[in-house]
Amino acid sequence: MIKKLLIANRGEIALRIHRACKEMGIATVAVHSTADSEAMHVRLADESVCIGPPAAAKSYLNIPAIVTACEITGADAVHPGYGFLSENANFAEILAAHKITFVGPSTEHIREMGDKIAAKQAMIAAGVPVVPGSPGAVSDADAAGIAASIGYPVLCKAAAGGGGRGMKVATDPGALAEALATARGEARSAFGDDAMYLEKYLGHPRHIEIQIMADAHGNVVHLGERDCSLQRRHQKILEESPSPALDDAARREIGRIVTKAMQKIGYLGAGTIEFLYEKGAFYFIEMNTRIQVEHPVTEMVTGIDLVREQIRVACGLPLSFRQEDVVLRGHAIECRINAEHPRTFIPSPGTIRNFHVPGGLGVRIDSAAYAGYRIPPYYDSMIGKLIVHGRDRHECLMRLGRALDEFVIDGVETTLDLHRALLEEPDFINGNYDIHWLETRLANS
Ligand code: ADP
Repeated sequence: MIKKLLIANRGEIALRIHRACKEMGIATVAVHSTADSEAMHVRLADESVCIGPPAAAKSYLNIPAIVTACEITGADAVHPGYGFLSENANFAEILAAHKITFVGPSTEHIREMGDKIAAKQAMIAAGVPVVPGSPGAVSDADAAGIAASIGYPVLCKAAAGGGGRGMKVATDPGALAEALATARGEARSAFGDDAMYLEKYLGHPRHIEIQIMADAHGNVVHLGERDCSLQRRHQKILEESPSPALDDAARREIGRIVTKAMQKIGYLGAGTIEFLYEKGAFYFIEMNTRIQVEHPVTEMVTGIDLVREQIRVACGLPLSFRQEDVVLRGHAIECRINAEHPRTFIPSPGTIRNFHVPGGLGVRIDSAAYAGYRIPPYYDSMIGKLIVHGRDRHECLMRLGRALDEFVIDGVETTLDLHRALLEEPDFINGNYDIHWLETRLANS
């Protein structure tokens, strides 16, 4: 069993991991940049180590500094959270070489799923339906022929893509060369890898993802879905579980397909298999080999602590539950609260003056912010998540409304008002939205 775990992250997810460790009797080590020395994860952890200056490349992405922090503190495991080094196979390999447990899947799976072309091929081989597209990477020369065979519109996507970058739509043959070149350029500068593939661009899908957990004893369990269709620039804003668009039969069927595929590839740990869902059909787009921002909605409807299970399976322990123990109860919605202007989405770093969070039955706040906290300008703008649970979607929406009304964050702009406005939208209230709905709504208001 792990005795001391180093949390290679910051913000709310660092706190989330700390909390799971405390409940398991595991000591925690926080790492931080010089910009985060006052941060809540540093204050709560049993020990902390400064690993570098503010720029993430020199601190939270600094592998030698993090490995050194493990050696100094005697940490025997690392949880990478999401973002930063969470999907860096090289990091996992270096930790293994130092006999430090990486809380995550095997380096082979991180590598394979990190390359979206390889991931799609692996999923096809494992019997998972995928978005129709090019069989592999495309060159500028053969793109037009392949796009014509897929049929327009097509989406040019980066093999190394993430965070919605390196993606451009071509609506017709005349637009292909430019879309491909733009996406390629973006991918080269963002990921240092400009390999591109083509996919059929689906017009009105929902984004539905399946959470799975797997242990080293051959057990793979799925924990239902999350609907993450409310997006802006391919970035999720609000997530819910269950999806208003799925019935029990569809849920069971996709759960069965995904579980079988994960068993086939021998996956370990937490994973999310992302799909687009249109006209009753699922199309795989990518797999994330880490805990996700939106994992709390799954925890609220299943009652299962996913971070705790991640740590258990990383130690070689079996999952603490079986498929038949997973019962989806009620409905949960998560709102991402970003320090951004609610209409322009321009980041708003600064000092939070007042911070009053809602409470009461079915309300959960995952945040590392507090009154007096200075949001540094160096990292992403998410300052917290409000997660609400109700016995059904209606109760959940009512509860969300009153929780948003109670929430006070002064001193910086936040997206709280965007979420409040969503609750006035009949389409959202009725669960009637696809991945384009929010952008169209914002453009028309
Ligand atoms: P990233 O890793 O950059 O987040 P994803 O492949 O997960 O990229 O896609 C992110 C979002 O982009 C999806 O949720 C969806 O909104 C949109 N998207 C991706 N592929 C397609 C497609 N083939 N057709 C339409 N939209 C897509």
